Amino acid sequence: MPELPEMETYRKLLTEKIAHQQITEVEVNREKSVNTPVDAFIQEVRGQTILTIERRAKHLLFHLNNNKTLLLHLMLGGWMFYGDESNKPDRTIQVKLSFGGMHLYFIGLRLGYLHVHDKEEVPHVLEKLGPEPLNENFTENTFQQLMGPKRGMLKTTLIDQSFLSGIGNCYSDEICFSTGLLPMKRGTELSEEDRSRLYHSIRAVLSEAIQFGGYMESPLYVGDQLTGGFDAKCKVYDREGGACFRCGHPIIKDELSSRKTFYCQVCQH
Ligand SMILES: [Zn+2]
Repeated sequence: MPELPEMETYRKLLTEKIAHQQITEVEVNREKSVNTPVDAFIQEVRGQTILTIERRAKHLLFHLNNNKTLLLHLMLGGWMFYGDESNKPDRTIQVKLSFGGMHLYFIGLRLGYLHVHDKEEVPHVLEKLGPEPLNENFTENTFQQLMGPKRGMLKTTLIDQSFLSGIGNCYSDEICFSTGLLPMKRGTELSEEDRSRLYHSIRAVLSEAIQFGGYMESPLYVGDQLTGGFDAKCKVYDREGGACFRCGHPIIKDELSSRKTFYCQVCQH
């Protein structure tokens, strides 16, 4: 599932491609991907201009000039492609937004969705989300206070969207490795110094992943050199049996609360 760095990469690249562009056509092939009757959805979106694209947690918010916002969550398996008819991916398209001859294709939206809301409604829809870990006002002090009373396993805590926004299966493992802490370690077992290292790892890992374009497999458009660059940089995630880059021991794959979890038994305590 795309996490904060993947959605931030989409935000950056889509802003270059479609900000200030008019949506000339809308196609909805899967009713369940939208939150209103299809006709009403098309009526609210077609002809509008995308003003800005914002990211919040794992969501993208496309702000339109009629004071509506398209709220996107790709969930598991969702991805996007921007191109013309000739390079359209050979996949089922759930929703398509057209910008003249160019189109933004939404693919794999089985659980994912593209909802239309009044702009003022959006903060209410997203109110349960925890703080953005890369925001300037998310200080180490704030993190110490939030993390201090947490009893659950580190992995479970990190992926809890009401605790922190945007971290999922991959980055929780990468963050634990970077901090040198085991993902099954309990929050209450952490010292103040552990929490401090954890805070800095969260920021460093997410920032580096954004810099390298996240881990999505498919490029957003033909010639996209950014998307997916972080995939080869993952140190533990999806590397079962591979040699740890730090100590050479094989990376372990485990399941924690029915989530795949990867770690190094030697480097993480
Ligand atoms: Zn190791």
